Amino acid sequence: MSFQPVVQYASRTDVGMRRSANQDSLAVRMCSAYEEWARIGHLFIVADGMGGHSVGDLASRITVETLPLAFFKSGAERLADRLTGAIEAANRAINDKARENPEFSDMGTTCSVLSLSAEGAWIGHVGDSRIYRIRGDVIEQLTFDHSLQWEMMRQGRATAERSEMLHPRNVITRCLGPDKNVEIDVEGPFDVRPGDRFLLCSDGLTGHLTDNEIGAIVAGLPPDDACRFLIDLANCRGGTDNSTVVLAVIQNYPPIESDTVESLAAKARTTNQLAVQAAAPERVARRRMWSRLAMTVFLLLAGTGLSMMILGQREKLGLALVVSAIVLGFIQLVMSARRTPTVVIDSESPPAGSGDALLGCREPALSSPYRRDSAALRPEFLAVLADAQSQLAAVAEENGWDLNIAQLRQPDRTATDDGKRTSDALAEHARAIRILMKEFAVRLRPRS
Ligand code: CA
Repeated sequence: MSFQPVVQYASRTDVGMRRSANQDSLAVRMCSAYEEWARIGHLFIVADGMGGHSVGDLASRITVETLPLAFFKSGAERLADRLTGAIEAANRAINDKARENPEFSDMGTTCSVLSLSAEGAWIGHVGDSRIYRIRGDVIEQLTFDHSLQWEMMRQGRATAERSEMLHPRNVITRCLGPDKNVEIDVEGPFDVRPGDRFLLCSDGLTGHLTDNEIGAIVAGLPPDDACRFLIDLANCRGGTDNSTVVLAVIQNYPPIESDTVESLAAKARTTNQLAVQAAAPERVARRRMWSRLAMTVFLLLAGTGLSMMILGQREKLGLALVVSAIVLGFIQLVMSARRTPTVVIDSESPPAGSGDALLGCREPALSSPYRRDSAALRPEFLAVLADAQSQLAAVAEENGWDLNIAQLRQPDRTATDDGKRTSDALAEHARAIRILMKEFAVRLRPRS
């Protein structure tokens, strides 16, 4: 038998600075026995609810209550099937509840689940909450955002910049609740090593922080402090939405056979929608080619037809060419509309253009990890934190808040290349901003 895994975890959820209710939920279920851990794994969940009449919190709450029960009770042999079954059970429970009461009819929730077992890390995911792995100086996003922005990029119909400009951030293409059946991403197993950190979070966090900033905070602070500071910083930048974080830090982990990881991942690819994603590059390339071909033919037909009509040569043929171009354009339009995914608007999420909306604007890869960035603590980020701290301290001083302002003003140190000094600086900014944001939250956030 391998040695025992040691996984430390921390979590936090916060209403933010603008909302009066928190519709996010989270759950952590740790296995107490080695055998259970090896077979099933520790379980971590984040769910971000949505829906009018204050029922979004009901959908996310049902998820974090139903899902662990179904997961641990399941008789499925494979972890992938166990995860799929548990998420389906949560979806059914929300859907059933919505049918009972018309006021609940529009409720839904995202759902991101992580299982850490002897097989490694398995992920079950629906919606635009995220799961990251931070390893050394690198942060990787393991989940695909089921948002209109990301779907458009996956289909090759928009670049990252255009998608960010054209499609609002708060339109998601999949969630639990509205339909009896839901398409679930189950991916893994991902390798797990001592020192790895896995972060689950709702879009209230990722709407305000870049991947690099998230990685630097998670890698640079103890788990509890990291969770608290991630949320403080989101609130400091507007806190337009509820923010939730669950952080698992791997202190010790039995080695995972790399060939086991690969063979299990290969099996998973053949049985779930990873197969669809694996086929995506060819599909996207084919679609782009047809689209370009159709556009070229359209221009040729329309151009030639119009020229003939204008020049008065074989006008009937010219008219026929123009009509053909219009018919071709219409067919292309209908085909493209049929490929547009169904959408759900999460009114609780910050819309594009609010706060720091233009973050991490890059196209996702075609398979997990979908995005990768540096988790290094950059001097520019420390400078931003120093600036935020000074401004918050100035407001506290102007308003005569009962705080030890001298201690909370900008610290003497400046960012240097010295790793120890920069990580100390991060901890100092985190401590000062925590004290200041606590005061801001008490005085400025709306009361429920
Ligand atoms: Ca949200």
